[in-house]
Amino acid sequence: MARKIGSRYTAHQILGRGSAGTVWLGEGPEGPVAIKLLREDLASDQELVSRFVQERTALLGLEHPHVVSVRDLVVDGNDLALVMDLVRGTDLRTRLDRERRLAPEAAVAVVADVADGLAAAHAAGVVHRDVKPENVLLDMQGPLGPGGSHPALLTDFGVAKLIDTPRRTRATKIIGTPDYLAPEIVEGLPPRAAVDIYALATVLYELLAGFTPFGGGHPGAVLRRHVTERVVPLPGIPDELWQLLVQCLAKAPASRLRASELGARLRELLPMLAGMGPLDVDEPDAEQEEDAPEEPPASPAPAGEPVRRRGAVPLVPGAKPADSNRDTHTSMRVPAPDELAGGARGTARAPRASGAPRPGSARNRAAARRRRLAVGAGALALVAAIGVGTWLATGGDEGGAGPQDTRNSAPASP
Ligand code: ADP
Repeated sequence: MARKIGSRYTAHQILGRGSAGTVWLGEGPEGPVAIKLLREDLASDQELVSRFVQERTALLGLEHPHVVSVRDLVVDGNDLALVMDLVRGTDLRTRLDRERRLAPEAAVAVVADVADGLAAAHAAGVVHRDVKPENVLLDMQGPLGPGGSHPALLTDFGVAKLIDTPRRTRATKIIGTPDYLAPEIVEGLPPRAAVDIYALATVLYELLAGFTPFGGGHPGAVLRRHVTERVVPLPGIPDELWQLLVQCLAKAPASRLRASELGARLRELLPMLAGMGPLDVDEPDAEQEEDAPEEPPASPAPAGEPVRRRGAVPLVPGAKPADSNRDTHTSMRVPAPDELAGGARGTARAPRASGAPRPGSARNRAAARRRRLAVGAGALALVAAIGVGTWLATGGDEGGAGPQDTRNSAPASP
């Protein structure tokens, strides 16, 4: 069932469905293309359509071997479509679901490609803001690289920025995929290039481990972990690779590597990783997270110390206090106070080597308790303050509504 898109393109068959619409295999004057047809409710939004046209140049400008280029924008009757390079292959999420974990060499090769694509985008002043395995396409027709990996291309630049607008997004909401959100976004700071590095490092960790470092449980708990928890080492990971991961998962954006540097450093590691099998890591299970009520209660500021205004605690040294009225980019409501205060599974999930004692064992319970105490009441109070402050500042206007579609996302220019 062929379908005309504008005067120049024909859509032939559905390749996949995403959050913003449906992707079709199509044909244009220069050959096969992928056509992302935006959802009807988006396409019928006049304001969105005019922004779509305004953003044309920025969207069409990015050309790089590791970026899926947008070739054309079509506004035609009820259709709003992005015409993109066709990538014959699959997305990284599908590969990860199939293989569960990638060998370090393959994981690093994929992430180095994406880092190179990001470097080009950042040089052009574009921040992606939604780096995640779903937005990485693997070109199965491209040459096989290190670890048997096909070339990886980053897609969905600019799309979510168009869809996520101040009018559509209440100031209290955060649009994004919680597992990949940099801590500064949680705090409400404007997203700069470093948020993409944090997200990409999260993807690398996930490819190696089979799970993200701070994911699991309620979205509110995930956000809190980004701000307060340290990433827990992966058993068996080469130290050089671990150091890179830790640096790019730094809470302070300025401490993270730039995309070009990350790509180069990852490629330097490839020879050392050749032939290494996937890491033998077991995913931390729910049992470990169930004991969250053992968290120490958030304690009040010691006597004599100024009580910080709720929601005004800077996460990044020297940063301006979080401003709850600033537009943020997540489509979750800001977590309710009790969720941030530890009621919803609050601890980072520690990976364990295969065969190691289960997290629920007495030994691990004690260790987990020590770790939580180390994180400390201050950190908990900090995040609770940010969340509660923002929530209060906006009058808690999201009511008791549950989390919205947290898979959605929002790239944007910086
Ligand atoms: P999402 O909005 O969830 O990020 P997309 O709408 O970008 O997802 O894509 C949905 C699916 O369509 C992808 O998983 C992929 O299989 C396919 N797809 C997207 N872009 C392309 C492309 N340029 N070439 C080939 N297939 C694509």
